[in-house]
Amino acid sequence: MIQVLDSFISDKIAAGEVIERPLSIVKELVENSIDAGADSIVVEIRNGGKSYIRVTDNGCGIPAEEAEIAFERHATGKIQTLEDLGHIDTLGFRGEALASICAISRMTLYTRTAESPVGIKLEIQGGRICGKEPSGMNGGTTMVVEDVFYNTPARRKFMRSDAAEASAIIDFVQKMALYYANVAFQLINNGRNVLTTNGDGNYLHAISRVYPTKEFSNLMEIQGEHVHGFISDPGTTKNNRSGQIFFVNGRYVRSDVIEKGLMDGYGDRVFSGYPVALLFITVPPETIDVNIHPNKKEIKFLESGDIKKDIAAAVQKVIHSQDAVPQAMLKEKNIS
Ligand code: ADP
Ligand code: MG
Repeated sequence: MIQVLDSFISDKIAAGEVIERPLSIVKELVENSIDAGADSIVVEIRNGGKSYIRVTDNGCGIPAEEAEIAFERHATGKIQTLEDLGHIDTLGFRGEALASICAISRMTLYTRTAESPVGIKLEIQGGRICGKEPSGMNGGTTMVVEDVFYNTPARRKFMRSDAAEASAIIDFVQKMALYYANVAFQLINNGRNVLTTNGDGNYLHAISRVYPTKEFSNLMEIQGEHVHGFISDPGTTKNNRSGQIFFVNGRYVRSDVIEKGLMDGYGDRVFSGYPVALLFITVPPETIDVNIHPNKKEIKFLESGDIKKDIAAAVQKVIHSQDAVPQAMLKEKNIS
């Protein structure tokens, strides 16, 4: 017998496509905070996010009368018309995240807009609203997500260890804190503070907070046509590529083309290992092919040769002009 699924079943199926693991929830909530214009975001997780995720922001908040609608599928405040789809300037627009998250967890929303004298608290379990009351609070939004996949045992089984889930979340928040250097991030894992950035907009400050190791301490700025970023001198390398971090049009990606351009720029000056680099690449959106699956990080450039050359030239220029001596070391020499 063919029948249309009850919405509580279909919502759980749809939720599974957006929410694979605790990381997906953190990603959706943090992206919502960015879209809300927040410049302070606190993320707290327990047990790798399985038992508890909290994201608190100081963004625009949700008007009390819209709070319930926000949890419905295809509910979005970010686009209205087909035309809007052509120039999206927010991270979200599908209106699926909150509907998906609330279908497979116990959620509590606290939110208040600047105009409203009092906020609202909304409780949702397995997609059903089960509590609504006024809430005294600062402007902004707090989303608490507990017991991820509590009502979908098959999914629950597929989560990895607490440590593995936590490490994926920490990695994600680190990347966000680097890219959004103008947002103050704080990350708390099992009650312990693991990251704080000050949101002053200075990438070097953000880098030193996210990666407080010597490889990242004396970076040089590079600027090309499509690339802006910070690289180490050729003598400062790591033994893997974990220190090579690339964003294309705001999206964290892995890319052979960028790796190759970077290494071409250093040429034979690198004797061993991998220099560290934080690169921001900006290209017309129609010249890249992003694998649309939200968790895939591979990217294809249609003009890959040009991008590679641009990066290589920008790297080479700095390496040659400074003869591989970082700015900070030059300054030290002047003082002594
Ligand atoms: P999308 O981000 O694709 O629009 P979501 O399900 O993630 O869909 O969110 C639904 C709507 O709820 C958003 O469009 C936005 O209006 C509102 N919203 C969600 N999170 C926040 C937040 N942290 N601050 C303000 N508004 C929010
Ligand atoms: Mg969203």
